[in-house]
Amino acid sequence: AEHRTDRIIKQTEKYGAHNYHPLPIVIARAEGVWVEDPEGTTYMDMLSAYSALNHGHCHPKIIQALKDQADKVTLTSRAFYNDRLGEFYEKVAKLTGKNMVLPMNTGAEAVETAIKAVRRWAYDVKGVEANQANIIVCEGNFHGRTTTLTSFSSEESYRRGFGPFTPGFTMIPYGDIQALQDAITPYTAAFMVEPIQGEAGIVIPPDGFLKQASEICKKNKVLLVVDEIQTGLGRTGKLFAMDWDGIQPDLYIIGKALGGGVYPISAVVADADILGVFEPGSHGSTFGGNPLGCAVAIAALDVLEEEQLVQRSRTLGEYFKQELLTINSPIIKEVRGRGLFIGVELIEKARPYCERLKDNGLLCKETHDTTIRFAPPLIISQQELDWAIMRIRQVLQK
Ligand code: PLP
Repeated sequence: AEHRTDRIIKQTEKYGAHNYHPLPIVIARAEGVWVEDPEGTTYMDMLSAYSALNHGHCHPKIIQALKDQADKVTLTSRAFYNDRLGEFYEKVAKLTGKNMVLPMNTGAEAVETAIKAVRRWAYDVKGVEANQANIIVCEGNFHGRTTTLTSFSSEESYRRGFGPFTPGFTMIPYGDIQALQDAITPYTAAFMVEPIQGEAGIVIPPDGFLKQASEICKKNKVLLVVDEIQTGLGRTGKLFAMDWDGIQPDLYIIGKALGGGVYPISAVVADADILGVFEPGSHGSTFGGNPLGCAVAIAALDVLEEEQLVQRSRTLGEYFKQELLTINSPIIKEVRGRGLFIGVELIEKARPYCERLKDNGLLCKETHDTTIRFAPPLIISQQELDWAIMRIRQVLQK
């Protein structure tokens, strides 16, 4: 008899658009760091849905919040107030030290929102000539898949056939402070950056780059926008990856783990002198700020604190990285990362190794061909991590 797994994969491939190339495993159940296929084989999840599952799969407190809220009210639209949104705002504002929050659903939508905010700010506050505002971005960036965000991607496969593109973006090499300085003009509204580039392969900028960038931005009245969608909420061993450099950006963009791995919710967070540029009618989203998403996010932020996930990520991440560094293998080019956000770059294609890790019970995914990204849920135990390290050793050691 045909395995359920095979049947499901065939069905999925037959009717779905082929914009992904998944590993051949079907997940039918999950709990914590573990997932299970229809035949009952278990695997450890070392990808965490690109950091959206920092709390692990089906965290009981977050699931309970979802169920409780589902019994009360799930959606109001923003035509009316709901009784969870204010609480969500206050929590996010206190967490970031900012005083204004704008909720959306996906990461890409939040990035789009930040772009609208800084453009308007440029015209209304900075005094840039109409329709001339420019935003500086970095090579290798990944901010999402909308047409505008695709417009300033440096990845040809993300762009091919999707033009015409949105103007108003200037690209500099990631980590090049002189290039940032040189790219600033009187039209520059903002510099938008990932504190660590996730999709590019866990690329960490040179020491001091973010701090210097922040100073240059301040000096030139340019807003610093950080995309913490993948790096934020504990992933790198600090609440925000920017905390490693001790700087507060003008705008935070958060998403992914904000929804506790359960429900899509994202936000742009800044002070009122920036987000105040939106008046009624200027921006919105039917589902943005809905009570179900807010209830889930509130629970997710509570769990982050109660279970000290930021500290866990820092301590376990340091241990994990040290262990990976002891693997003696000619195919490993570099091990890099912060917290439980670690890339192992190989001298050859990483996909076969990800497939072998899968056969050994460990799920992870290559990024940019040659890098394996290890990003387990932050709730992982030391024992579970040791289980994973043993298997990684087996597969990578030569
Ligand atoms: N920004 C960063 C840094 C990301 O890593 C991602 C997703 O991988 C996004 C934005 C886009 O988020 P979403 O897929 O929720 O639109």
